[in-house]
Amino acid sequence: RAKHSGKNTYRFFDESMDENMQRRVATQRHLEEALSQSDQLSLHYQPQVAALSEESIGAEVLVRWQRGGEWISPADFIPIAEDSGQIIELGRWIIDTALRQLADWRDRDIPVGKLSINISTIQLSNSDVALELLEGMRLYNIPAKAIAIEFTETTLMVRSEQLIRNLSLFRNHNISISIDDFGTGYCSLSYLKELEAHYLKIDQSFVGGIGKNESDECIVIATIAMAKGLHMKVVAEGVETVAQAEYLAHQGCDYLQGYHFARPMSAIDFEQWLLRSVTL
Ligand code: C2E
Ligand code: MG
Ligand code: MG
Ligand code: MG
Repeated sequence: RAKHSGKNTYRFFDESMDENMQRRVATQRHLEEALSQSDQLSLHYQPQVAALSEESIGAEVLVRWQRGGEWISPADFIPIAEDSGQIIELGRWIIDTALRQLADWRDRDIPVGKLSINISTIQLSNSDVALELLEGMRLYNIPAKAIAIEFTETTLMVRSEQLIRNLSLFRNHNISISIDDFGTGYCSLSYLKELEAHYLKIDQSFVGGIGKNESDECIVIATIAMAKGLHMKVVAEGVETVAQAEYLAHQGCDYLQGYHFARPMSAIDFEQWLLRSVTL
């Protein structure tokens, strides 16, 4: 009996693998289409605020894909685009669109602050993403202080020449580097020390445990202490409650980001949110 059900499970698993494969191929085809027409793709902006004053200091750029009325989550399609290499073209579109939007805001004196752009490991190790970003910044007249890039700690474990070249270009041109989802990937603390990143983002899974889970609180406190010691600013992600915000501010976290302050918003909504929060 056990054997029988084991076989069934195996066959079921096999079929779902197949389905999974088909879904990936379909997603790649649909993404190809979205990249060539591109009215399906857009960018959203989520404010980051200073922990003490709660004033906005900038926003994280998050890609959105809407296909025939259905929103497809970046958590689903980014890994597929990474596998197929489409992330490089998608990443170019994201950078160009974000820079163009930022230039427009700056022209109209909208106080956006710094835009933080997520960059995939694949872009960093297989393209001239730094040169392309710098070229775009020249084109749109964007100063280095207006841009940060985000990537995860696992990226640091890739020691390819291309990746190191990209990172040194960012560094040499004073573009801030932010380590995303800290504590959830693979990290060597000596690589982290060597990199001298400007920001460390505490992953939302730890932030979610504040007030509920002593281990999470312990990790939050230790991460802030380590970041301070390494002269990095700390950003907490996924702040959803006032209690979390107060705890993080009290522990010395510098910046906060999460639904408690604002959800990721379209460019026009973010602009209105900013203008509202400045006049208040
Ligand atoms: P991430 O870079 O860590 O982005 C933070 C994610 O947390 C975003 O999900 C954001 O909408 C969500 N979030 C923000 N505040 C809260 C909160 O208070 N509670 C909860 N539960 N979630 C919150 P999103 O936009 O679905 O993106 C998921 C991931 O997809 C990102 O994680 C990033 O790894 C990737 N991604 C998104 N946009 C881009 C992009 O433009 N380029 C690249 N390479 N990756 C991207
Ligand atoms: Mg991010
Ligand atoms: Mg994150
Ligand atoms: Mg993440």
